[in-house]
Amino acid sequence: MPNKKNSLLENLSDLCRIPSPSLHERDAVKALARKIRDLGYEPLEDDAAASLGGDCGNIVVKVPGTGKGPRLLFAAHMDTVERPGGQPSTLCVDGDWVSRKGGGVFGADDKAGVAVLLEVLSRLKKEERKHGDLVFVFTMAEEIECLGAGELDPEIYFGLDAGIALDYTSPSDIVVAAPTKVSFRITVHGISGHAAFPERKINAAHVMAQTLARLPMGRLDEFTTANLGVMRSGTAINVIPGTAYAEYEMRSHRKDVLDFHVKRVIGTIEGVVRENRVFALGREGAGMGGDGDEGDGDVIRIRHSQVDVDVEVGYEGYRIDDGAPVVQRLRAAVIKAGLEPNIVIAQGGSDANIFNRRGLPSVVLGCGMYGAHGSNERANLEDMRNCVEVLLHAIADARVSARVSARGKAGR
Ligand SMILES: [Zn+2]
Repeated sequence: MPNKKNSLLENLSDLCRIPSPSLHERDAVKALARKIRDLGYEPLEDDAAASLGGDCGNIVVKVPGTGKGPRLLFAAHMDTVERPGGQPSTLCVDGDWVSRKGGGVFGADDKAGVAVLLEVLSRLKKEERKHGDLVFVFTMAEEIECLGAGELDPEIYFGLDAGIALDYTSPSDIVVAAPTKVSFRITVHGISGHAAFPERKINAAHVMAQTLARLPMGRLDEFTTANLGVMRSGTAINVIPGTAYAEYEMRSHRKDVLDFHVKRVIGTIEGVVRENRVFALGREGAGMGGDGDEGDGDVIRIRHSQVDVDVEVGYEGYRIDDGAPVVQRLRAAVIKAGLEPNIVIAQGGSDANIFNRRGLPSVVLGCGMYGAHGSNERANLEDMRNCVEVLLHAIADARVSARVSARGKAGR
């Protein structure tokens, strides 16, 4: 089947050559829209660019039903994490493996998924397949907390049975659960000054260090993990830092467990910050903000360090029952494609988190991309071909597909 292999590879390479970091997907989306039109479909762009401050919106392709079959939403995301220097990638093809020449991020996450969906659109038309209503969604800004999918018009979900996002490794992998993620952005305010005059100062970096040392880290329980990802403070060795900043996250498959941890973390941060205080003499009504309030000393004041904690739910988790129709249908489709289904509980979020929150039961399916975000990112063409077959089986009305395969066998 040289044709299938070539169009998958061609679309993957064309799209991966165009850098499309989150909120800067315009050039890649232009190329994608052209390809969609060449296949005989109409790509519609929504208003997500304006609401998110990006340079393009989500692309939606509605494919009205031609017969019986499930009404499905398919999704893949157009944005990628930043590649080194934002340079276009030169790809290296070795058998079925495609990678960036010299290694590194080239955008297989999630352009392998995008190329698979283009192939499915092409096959539906060429082979005049019978199917129910289908919606293909190419999202922007997925890598930044799935913001693009969050902007999709809720109207697109109406009348659909289920969603399938292509954003994982092997096409036999069906992701039925993903965690809820909470981000903490922590800013400690102290009192800055010269290192040689520490009196009545509060070293914000030191307060932050004490705080972070008391926060839970790594795996907390079978459902939950925590990570300190960013910390910044200080300008020079001889300056007492006045502020310190950190970013910390927790993710969990159990909402109640996560709530418990979140409350404890906030309590810990507030406790440490309260412990760090200075006693200072000051004049009634004078500010206590820094070096300038020596005062005449009629009032003793206590000045605490202060903290701003910005807690945000990045995405909400989901858990689809193994017996749910979308899982059963995909399992059957994976088997028909000659693979062994594998049910997966994921540790990261995807657009499927958003679809589930909107009420559309959705899972993630692998599409042949490996080593996402890392120095060894690669795509596998055989897995991408298999993913196309799995989706075509999933689209087909079960009775129709049984007839087709019986005929196919007889003809061979
Ligand atoms: Zn992805």
